[in-house]
Amino acid sequence: MTPLELYKHLPQTNCGRCLLPSCLAFAAAIVAGSKKLTECPYITEEQQEQLSGSLQPRAGTEPDQARFIDRLVEKIRTIDFPQIAPVIGATCSNGHLVINSLGKDFVIDRQGELHSECHIIPWVKAPMLSYVTNTTHQPITGEWITFRELNGGIEWQGLFTSRCERPLQHLADDHPELLGDIIDLFMGRQTRAFAADIALTLYPLPHFPILICYQAPEEDLESQLTIFFDACCGVNLHIKSIYTLCAGLVHMFDKISKLHI
Ligand code: SF4
Repeated sequence: MTPLELYKHLPQTNCGRCLLPSCLAFAAAIVAGSKKLTECPYITEEQQEQLSGSLQPRAGTEPDQARFIDRLVEKIRTIDFPQIAPVIGATCSNGHLVINSLGKDFVIDRQGELHSECHIIPWVKAPMLSYVTNTTHQPITGEWITFRELNGGIEWQGLFTSRCERPLQHLADDHPELLGDIIDLFMGRQTRAFAADIALTLYPLPHFPILICYQAPEEDLESQLTIFFDACCGVNLHIKSIYTLCAGLVHMFDKISKLHI
């Protein structure tokens, strides 16, 4: 979305409460990433959701991502692995940190390099290093919450819906066997706790369970898919990393679905 397109959705009163001289300046600042939609008190939560889906966060660009990973690697070098391992659900082996993601072990060495027997998908690295270097950790609570209930979730909800939940819903509609494959491939667990055709739990990180609930389409009713998070997820990972992790997962599931064509 360009500043002019965004401007059409703003009150256009130039009241200055966002601390900028005009609504157009505010729109330009939003698109540049230096302001947040919540800083205009006249934009409702519903509008925030709708608009955020059309705004591309600058944080996803490759140079930004590379700098972000460099900073995480610096932090990793200062971390006491034996001390942090039990707190984050990892183990230590030969001075390295061993962390499980979706049933596969990943090894982080003292230089912050990631090693695994399986192919390391680039989007895994940043959320995994973020998880390890996060200053707060909470054990799994057993309480499931939606994305928008996570810390900072409202701002990212539109993007999360359009890049994660909707594409996964359409994949499950088009490939009914996909969710079963995900359970087999990634140590997923079916749960009957929710009124859904399929409810499966996955562990992208040790203290980071997600629950995918899918209701298949029926006659005139569209299918439904919601991704829930344990309440600890918002403490153990920043919302940006949560979005990156989920978008990466859906991208990987898309590739897996194509194996059946
Ligand atoms: S607070 Fe909202 S309405 Fe007021 S100038 Fe800023 S963008 Fe415009």
